[in-house]
Order: sequence, then C-alpha cells, then structure tokens
Amino acid sequence: MDSLQRTDLFDLVIRGGKLVTATRTYHSDIGIRGEKIAAIGPDLEGARVVEARGLLILPGAIDPHVHLEMPVGETHSSDDWFTGTRAAACGGTTTVIDFVEPGLGEGLEHALAKRRERGQGRAAVDFGLHMTLVNDKAETLQEVPGLLEEGCTSFKTYLTYEGFRLSDSAFLHVLCVVKEAGGTLLVHAENDTIIAHLQRRFRAEKKTAPKYHALSRPPIAEAEAIQRSLALAEVTGARLYVVHISTALGADALHSARQRGVNASGETCPQYLLLTDKELSRPGFAGAKYVCSPPLRSLMDNERLWKGLADDDLQTVGTDHCPFNYKGQKDLGRDNYEKIPSGLPGIESRLSLLYQYGVRMGRLSLERWVEVCSTNPAKIFGLYPRKGSLEPGADADMVLFDPNKKVTLSRSLLHEQVDYTPYKGFELQGYPVMTFLRGKLIVKNGEFTGAAGDGKYLVRGCSG
Ligand SMILES: [Zn+2]
Repeated sequence: MDSLQRTDLFDLVIRGGKLVTATRTYHSDIGIRGEKIAAIGPDLEGARVVEARGLLILPGAIDPHVHLEMPVGETHSSDDWFTGTRAAACGGTTTVIDFVEPGLGEGLEHALAKRRERGQGRAAVDFGLHMTLVNDKAETLQEVPGLLEEGCTSFKTYLTYEGFRLSDSAFLHVLCVVKEAGGTLLVHAENDTIIAHLQRRFRAEKKTAPKYHALSRPPIAEAEAIQRSLALAEVTGARLYVVHISTALGADALHSARQRGVNASGETCPQYLLLTDKELSRPGFAGAKYVCSPPLRSLMDNERLWKGLADDDLQTVGTDHCPFNYKGQKDLGRDNYEKIPSGLPGIESRLSLLYQYGVRMGRLSLERWVEVCSTNPAKIFGLYPRKGSLEPGADADMVLFDPNKKVTLSRSLLHEQVDYTPYKGFELQGYPVMTFLRGKLIVKNGEFTGAAGDGKYLVRGCSG
C-alpha cells in the first residue's frame, strides 16, 4: 500500500447507508477522522468500517428543551445528568440543551458555572445551557453580554409561575437587553391571571382531580400569552423562541406573526402531537401521569400542530423532558392537582415517535423530520453547522436508524429513570440502532456503550 492511499484511510467509515439531511436524501459513505466528519463520498476506506446498507444515517438529534435533575417544589425531576443523557443517546439524541435556574440573589455567571460543572463529567451526550431570567433588575441584566461570551446565548422567561413570572414591562425590557446583546429569548407563554382565577375557583369548588390541572390552563390562556409575547417581540425586533406550543390557537398566532416578518420561531413536543387531555381522566389517580404545563389538548390541536410542523409554522420538536415518578412524586398531588409535579418524560422516544407518526403516516418528509429534530434546533441555538449537519468539518454525531425495526414502547425498553412512560404500548416501525457522538459509538442495538463524561459543554454562537 503506498503512502497516498494510507493518508486516505479514515479512522472510521460508515458504508452504504442512506444519508438524510434537512435538504436531501442520498446514498453515500461517510469518512470520519477523530471527532469530525472528514469526507462524504463513494468507496471510502477506513481502519474500521460499519456496514449501513438498509439504514438511514442522520445527523445526531438535538433536543433543545430538557430538564435534568431540576428542582420543582419539594422534589426534583427524576432523571439526573447521566441517566437522562444516556436515555437521550439511546433514542438517537446527541445534544441536549438544559437550563440554568439561578438561586435567589445568585449571580448568573456563578449559576452557569455551577450548572456546567454539574453536567460536565456526568453527561453522556453534548449539552448546552439556556439561562433563566426571573427579573429585569440592572444587576441581573448587566451579566447578559458576559454569558454570551461563555456560549450561553439563549435566555428563558416565564409569563406564569410565582417566582418566575415577568410582568409585561419586565419582559419587554429583557427582550431589549437580549436583543442588544445578540441573544435569543425563550418564552413559556401562558396567561397567569386566567390560570390563577380558575385555580381559585376550583379550590372553592373542591375540584382537586388531575383533570382540573388542564381545565385551569385553557387553550386561550396559552394563545393570549403567545400573542402578547409576539407583539412585544415585534415592537423590539428581538428574536423570540416560543417553547412547547400546545394549541391550534398558539400555532395560528405564530403563523400570522411570522407572516408579518416577526423574528420568531416555535417549538412543539411529542406529547402535544400524540396525546390528548382524555388521558387526565384515567381511573383513580392515573391521570396524574399526564400532568404537564401547558396541558395536553384535543385531537384538533394535535392535527393543527402536525400541519404547522409540516408547513414551517413551527420549526422544532423538543421534549420538555421533565420526568417524575408516579409513585413518590406525582402522588404528592393525590389530594390536590396543584401539588402534582408538572412534567412528562420523553427524551428517549422523540425521534422514533416523529418517524412513526410523522414520516410513516405521511405528515412529514424524511428531510423535514431531520430538520425539526436536529438541523433547526442547531441553527436556532447557534450550533450549526458543527451540529445538525452531515458535512465535512461537522462533529461526527450520527444516528444509524433502521426504518424497519419494530418496537413497542414500554418502560423496560426505555432507559429513562422514571417508573412509567406516557407512550406505553405505542407500536413503532423505525428505531435507532447505533448512535455516534463525535466519532465514538455510544449506543449499539439498544445497549449503551458510552460513558458518563463523554458529553461536553457546548460554547454556542448566536442564532444563524
Ligand atoms: Zn420546560
């Protein structure tokens, strides 16, 4: 073998698969050197070769919205940095973006460093962090530009929840500051006044069952707050990302704002595409397993969100993975829905659920599936083209996906650290069989082969 051929030898070649990106689907080999994709083309030779005939090869999926070991009331979400990211990897997700929630009076940079430290050494996939802003005090906002330099380029705000909620004027102020710094603002949009009013009424009427959680947060509470946040974003010209859109009305509001040229994008989640509020009326207390905020909606909402994903009214699918065990956590609210920790697991099954119910059911093209699960989150959160693409120079984050593999979702199949899955019994055709993180095989046929600490903190750029 001459020296020229030896230099053409890649560390790893994925051979004969069908590459799917946000723009096209085609057959090619992929050559990897170190942690990067080095070449795309035919007949590549590698020191190691993985045969991928019959498989789809996608850029690693990116989940822009997860909550690992998140404190909520007297408890915290049941997946920690390791178990949650291991589950993500098993489902084909190689990057997650979690949140920093600074303590009372704690500086933002300090809180970021602490949270980053916590993930480092534990995460099994790469991770970024959004910063939560709960006030518009000068000493808080003056830290915003410094955070962008540390790769924390997106900021989460809430229009509801005691202790988190921003007034309209504070929200507008934050929009201006984040825009000026070049960042992106995330908003949890629900009308706090409507929710507080309905909660008071149900309290007086002794209505405490899980279904009242959903009834206290009606579709209009979301739609009004989305509309209002879009109006404020429009006035400032700031870049807004509306998290977990659950309603047809919310999708409509985003659609018309984008038509007007507002710099806004939106996310929905598998639970808002695939589950309905009927789940909350399950016998006994089982409805608590489906309590999340915003709540599950109607079939009509599901269909509007699917259409919105296909038509680019909505740009991403995140999971809002925030799991709580049914026994020992969800049951804190047995006598009062207000005490049920709010959140669902879903970090592991997003990609395959979207394949089954999106691609296989004809709602999404293969390319759109990759775009909403990987490429758009990378673009919106400053990771593209290092993540979310299959191009030379990109991180070698890849999912080998078998479009014919059949699975039935169950708690025992999944790796999430929680005692149930809301997708129990869902029958899927199409499932990830290998996951690579920067060239390293971290999942093979459902078995995790990576390690805690494989994942690195990502210094993100600004939205592109
Ligand atoms: Zn969330």
